Amino acid sequence: MLCSDSSRIIPVLPTYQAISLSVISVSFRWADARIDRNSKTIEITVRPGFTDGGTVGDPIPGYAAKTFEELKQMAKRGIEHYWTRDGSRPGGVGAPVDTAKGAFSVTVKADVNAEPMADGFALKELLQKRREWGFIRPDDSTSAGTLSQIVHMAHFWIVERRQTVFEVDAAFEHTAAHEFGHRILGAYGNRDYSWGHKGTSDKYIQKTKKGIQHPAIGEIDLMKYGILSASNRDYWNRSVAAEEDVKGVLWLTRVKFNTEKEND
Ligand SMILES: [Zn+2]
Repeated sequence: MLCSDSSRIIPVLPTYQAISLSVISVSFRWADARIDRNSKTIEITVRPGFTDGGTVGDPIPGYAAKTFEELKQMAKRGIEHYWTRDGSRPGGVGAPVDTAKGAFSVTVKADVNAEPMADGFALKELLQKRREWGFIRPDDSTSAGTLSQIVHMAHFWIVERRQTVFEVDAAFEHTAAHEFGHRILGAYGNRDYSWGHKGTSDKYIQKTKKGIQHPAIGEIDLMKYGILSASNRDYWNRSVAAEEDVKGVLWLTRVKFNTEKEND
């Protein structure tokens, strides 16, 4: 994945609304959060922007190319799955977030049809070999400005790797969560934090730094690069947005835990 970011200064205009004594609603430009302090739950709604990147290449025998609507639903599912930390995944992956007010279960919903949206991604179905000219890889998923796209690598997984539609879809959902994650990191962190995959990749050519490995057990940070000596399924099963990055979304929406009145 080529993942350089077009992050820029985004004016933060938080709004607060007290729904009841224990439930507070707060928002950032393309993210809202609803906090219930009694049940210790937070529901975050993000609004990613997606456009139809079309289908590239000739039909693959026996494979039904995905429509834009199908890709959009998969991207939504990927963002929701990998950014949620509600303790529902096996192996302690995605445990609730620790705060000054205790552990909060965080659920992320992606609304793919509402404004205002985060800077968009074209969703593309790729039915041919990935094109590469040195560092120029026009068919790679990227969060770089107007090139931003998330690619469903059907040819790569089915024809080149001889895997199933499950692998194509799983890789796409994971990539969607990662690329959208650059919008989050770009908004709350600095450019280097997002471009350099939190210190695990080169900022410019986006290659994994030498010696960086994913942990052998437990969580794998969705936004970090690394070498992994495990299966793809194990990688997807253990990938999740890190607690610090989910807290980053909460910071964007100006959720506070350590004051009595969040709504003033
Ligand atoms: Zn990336």
